[in-house]
Amino acid sequence: MTRSGLGRPNHSARPTGGERLDLSAVDALGLDIGGTKIAGARVSPDGDVLAHLSRPTTPDNPEGILDALTEIFLELGGQDALPAVGVAVAAFLNAERDSIFFSPNIAWRDFPLKAAVTERLGVPVVLENDANAAGWGEFRFGAARDVTSMLMLTIGTGVGGALVDDGRLLVGGFGMAAELGHVIIEPGGLLCGCGNRGCLEQYASGTALMRDARERLGDDSVTQATLTELLLQKNPDAVAALHGVAQAIGRGITSLVAVTDPQRIVIGGGVASAGELLLEPIRESFRDTYGAGNKRPIADIALATMGNSAGVVGAADLARAQVAREA
Ligand SMILES: [Zn+2]
Repeated sequence: MTRSGLGRPNHSARPTGGERLDLSAVDALGLDIGGTKIAGARVSPDGDVLAHLSRPTTPDNPEGILDALTEIFLELGGQDALPAVGVAVAAFLNAERDSIFFSPNIAWRDFPLKAAVTERLGVPVVLENDANAAGWGEFRFGAARDVTSMLMLTIGTGVGGALVDDGRLLVGGFGMAAELGHVIIEPGGLLCGCGNRGCLEQYASGTALMRDARERLGDDSVTQATLTELLLQKNPDAVAALHGVAQAIGRGITSLVAVTDPQRIVIGGGVASAGELLLEPIRESFRDTYGAGNKRPIADIALATMGNSAGVVGAADLARAQVAREA
């Protein structure tokens, strides 16, 4: 368990008489259920993490996950301090955002997670897909806080995405918009976990980077740490592997921009820690492939700024906003 800060006093928490709760002034809880851990944070209205802690995920024991969420909620303040709870989860959610169709990591199938968490915690709960929640965090408080439309790609083991248009998170008609890792960039290309061939994720993820780097270096023992080291030393094979990933991202972005026309493209996830070494070739590849040359404005490409806290901060903010709307 990690924990930092004690949280500041929450003077305007739950009203006692008939007075109305002012959600613009209270903290909210953000939870992020991943495959290995559940992160929780008490988040201020300005998107600051005031306190955080985590519990291991118990993928085969969904009831244990609800226990862990409850523990985190109580430890970070409970009902009196946290009148809204946002839950980010790595899963396909329905468009109504109350139920999970499928989670690759956790034994939940057609599971009404929102009702289950609401019953446990006794406060309003908002569910969101984890990549969307992280995108919302960057949109509200991070790399895209000064624009109204954004496309975010999270380059980790896989590739996640989020789209914000005119200040609204795009969830789609069935709840599964912005699965950007599964945009096909190489017809007939590498087989993807989703069953298709040539998905962006197969060329633009941390997994792809590692595969290509090992091939180029002729060394199967290369780890993430040694690859980072090689990149810092500007090892030509490591740099070439990173450029391959950047070019794939650039080509993916070109197709995505044709659909969504964002003002800013945010690149996050573990691979983004390569910084400008990754970003510059992405920009180059994007410039080389997008149409209409200099006859139109072009989205700028920026690194995510919120790191691992984007998901919990975004989830907390979505919860606060929705509860305020319904109040
Ligand atoms: Zn795919």
